Amino acid sequence: MAIHRFRALEEVLSRKPVDVKFQSEKVSELFGANVFGHDAMREYLSKEAFESVMNAGTTGTKINRKIADQVANSMKAWAMKKGVTHYTHWFQPLTGTTAEKHDAFFTPLENGRAMETFGGEQLIQQEPDASSFPSGGIRNTFEARGYTAWDPSSPAFVYAHTLCIPTIFISYTGEALDFKTPLIKALSALDKIATEVCQYFDKDISKVTATLGWEQEYFLVDTALYNARPDLNMTGRTLFGHSPAKGQQLEDHYFGAIPERIYAFMRDFEQESYKLGIPLRTRHNEVAPAQFECAPIYEETNLAVDHNTLLMDIMTRVAKRHDLKVLLHEKPFAGINGSGKHNNWSMATDTGVNLLAPGKTPKTNLMFLTFFVNTIKAVHDYSDLLRASIASAGNDHRLGANEAPPAIISAFIGKYLTTVLEQVETRVGGKFDEQDEAMLKLDIHKSIPELMLDNTDRNRTSPFAFTGNKFEFRAVGSSANCANNMTVLNTIVAETLKTFKKDVDALIDKGEKKEVAIMQILQKYVVSSKKVLFEGDGYSEAWANEAEKRGLPNVKTTPLALDAYITDKSKKLFESNDIYSHSELEARHEIMLEDYVKKVQIEARIMGELATTYILPSAVKYQNVLISNIKGLKEAGLKESAYANQLQLVEAISNHIAIMSDGVEKMIEERKKANELTNSRDKAIAYCENVKGKYFDVIRYSVDKLELMVDDAYWLLPKYREILFLR
Ligand code: ADP
Ligand code: MG
Repeated sequence: MAIHRFRALEEVLSRKPVDVKFQSEKVSELFGANVFGHDAMREYLSKEAFESVMNAGTTGTKINRKIADQVANSMKAWAMKKGVTHYTHWFQPLTGTTAEKHDAFFTPLENGRAMETFGGEQLIQQEPDASSFPSGGIRNTFEARGYTAWDPSSPAFVYAHTLCIPTIFISYTGEALDFKTPLIKALSALDKIATEVCQYFDKDISKVTATLGWEQEYFLVDTALYNARPDLNMTGRTLFGHSPAKGQQLEDHYFGAIPERIYAFMRDFEQESYKLGIPLRTRHNEVAPAQFECAPIYEETNLAVDHNTLLMDIMTRVAKRHDLKVLLHEKPFAGINGSGKHNNWSMATDTGVNLLAPGKTPKTNLMFLTFFVNTIKAVHDYSDLLRASIASAGNDHRLGANEAPPAIISAFIGKYLTTVLEQVETRVGGKFDEQDEAMLKLDIHKSIPELMLDNTDRNRTSPFAFTGNKFEFRAVGSSANCANNMTVLNTIVAETLKTFKKDVDALIDKGEKKEVAIMQILQKYVVSSKKVLFEGDGYSEAWANEAEKRGLPNVKTTPLALDAYITDKSKKLFESNDIYSHSELEARHEIMLEDYVKKVQIEARIMGELATTYILPSAVKYQNVLISNIKGLKEAGLKESAYANQLQLVEAISNHIAIMSDGVEKMIEERKKANELTNSRDKAIAYCENVKGKYFDVIRYSVDKLELMVDDAYWLLPKYREILFLR
C-alpha cells in the first residue's frame, strides 16, 4: 500500500532530533582526517614520491610507474588503518551524480591464502563498463569501454568505508565523458594565458589559479511526507500543491533560528564534510520556509567542484539518519523561492595576489583593471554560452521567475567601478598619451570603503555581480555540477585574454609604451562591451525591454539555450583552446537535450498518473458525499437556499475534474506526438512547448483548486503547509 498522507503525518509528529555524537568539539582536529592530503602523504610517502605527486597536481607532470606503485601502496596502508577494505575510482559522469565501482584490495593467492594488494596500475587507470553512462553517441555500443584515470590534483579520500580516488572519465578514443576533464583543460588554458598577461606586471608570477567558492541552497523535508508524494519522489519537485496560507511573505524564516531537528542534521553533515576536508564556513536559513544554505571557504576550482559534488552526496546520505530528505531541485515548490548555487569566482597568482582585488599601487591597479575588464568583455562576447552553461529543466523554473536572476546575462559592477570605467572610456580619449598615465594612478585601493558600500548595498538581481574582490555567478542551478559553468567561464576568459595579449603586443611592437598600450586596449574593450553592464533591477520588465533594445539575448528555455553550444563561434572557441572537439560538443549538446526530454517526460507521466489515481478518486468521493447530502436535504423538504452552496460546490468540482482530465488526455496525445520525433532538439522543443507549456499549468490549476474544495480527510497528497512547516 502506498504511504498516504495521514500515516506520514503521524510519523512526522513522533519525530525527535537525532542525538549527533561529535568526535571532537574542535573542527581543526577533524579537518581532513579522511583525506590522503599533505600531512598523510608526508607521513606515508618518500620525499621523491611526495614531490612527484605535488608536481603532478600543480603542473601536470607525469608520475612514473615506480612512484605510482609506491603511492598506491601507501594509500592502501593509510586507508587500511581506517578499516577500509575496498577502493574505487570516483568520477563525475554526465548523469549529474557521482559514480563509483568498488573493488576489494583483497586478492586470493595460491594455496588458499590471500593478501591485500593495490598497485600503481589500479591507481592510475580503471575500466568501468561505460555503456550505461550517457555518451551522446560518441561511443558505439559495441565499444562500451571507457576508462577512468587518476587526477592527482584532487586528493584521495576515505568515504563510506571506501578509498575514493578522484578520476577523469574518458572514452577509449579519448573523448571526455565527464564534467571534470573539460574543466581541468579550461583551468589549464586560463592558467597559461593569465600567467602570460601577468608577466606584463610582475615577472615573478608563474601560475594563475582560478578560485571558486560556491554557496549551496537546499530544502529539507521529512522522509515520510516525501515518500507520500510520488511527484517529489520521482521528479524532485511537487507538480501539484496549493500555496499555503502562509508562505514566505512574513520573511520570518530568513536568518531565523534553525529548528532543532535541522540543526542536528547540519552539525552531522558538517562533521562528515570536515573529515573530508570540505572547508564549510556558513550555514543559515534561506528565504523560503524549509530552505537552507551552506557555503565553504573558496578553493582552487577543480577541488572546489569535487567538494561540492561530494557535499551533495554527503548531505543526502546523512539526511537519512535524521529521517530527512534533501531537495536539491531548483524549484521543488511553486509559489515560493527555488534553490540555486552561487559560484563566487576569481583568479589568484602563485605570489598570493587576487587578480580581481583592486591593488595598492598603480601597477597592481592596472593589473586588476586588466583582469576586471577582460572578464566583462568575456561575459559580453559569450553571454549565450554562459546562459547555456546553466540550462536545465529544473533551472528553467527559476530563471526569469523574479527570484533568481533573469535569463538575460548581464554584469553588475557597482557605482564606483562604473565611474572608473567611464573614466577609462572618456579620459583616455581617442589616443592615450603620456599625460593620461595619471589614469594609472587611479586610486582604486583608497576607495575600498566605497567599494564595500557598493558591496553591502549590492544588487541581488544580477546574474553576474562584482562583489568587491570576485565575481559572483548567481544563476547556477542548485542541483548542477559547478563544473559545467566553470568550464565555460574559465574558457571564455582565457580566450579573451589571448586576444587581449595579441592586441597589446601589436601596439608594443609598434613602439607604444607597455602601460599605454594596455590602457588603449582596455579602453577599446570597455567601449565594445559596456552594453552588458547593468546596475538596475534585473527582475523588472523595464530591463527585459531595455535588454532587447541593447540586443542582449533573453532565452527562456533549455532546448533553445543549448543551441549556443554548437554555433560555429562556440566550436571554434572550444577547439582552439583544446577544451572540446566538435564531436564532443555535439555529444554534450545531445546529452543535455536528452536529459531535458527525459525529465519533462517523467514529470508528465507522474502528473497524469496522480491526477487520475489520486486526485480524481478523492474529488469524486467527496462529490458523492455532497450529492447524497443534497438529496437528503431535498427529501427532508428544505428549500433550495439550504443546499444551493453545496450544489455550486458540486458543480465547481465537476468543472475542475473535467478540465483536469481533459488536460491529461490531451497532454498524453502531445507526448505521443513528441515521442515520434527523431531529432533531439525538435523533441525537446516539443516537450517544452507542447507537453509542458500547454498542459502542466492548466492541469495544475484545477488540481490546486480541488485541493481547496475537497474534504481534507479525503486528500491523499501531503499539503504544502505540512511539508514546509511541520517539524
Ligand atoms: P555572501 O555572498 O553570502 O555575502 P561572502 O561574500 O562571504 O558571502 O562569500 C561568498 C563566497 O565567496 C564564500 O564561499 C567565499 O569563500 C567566496 N569567496 C571569497 N573570496 C573569493 C575569491 N577570491 N575567489 C572565489 N571565491 C571567493
Ligand atoms: Mg552570495
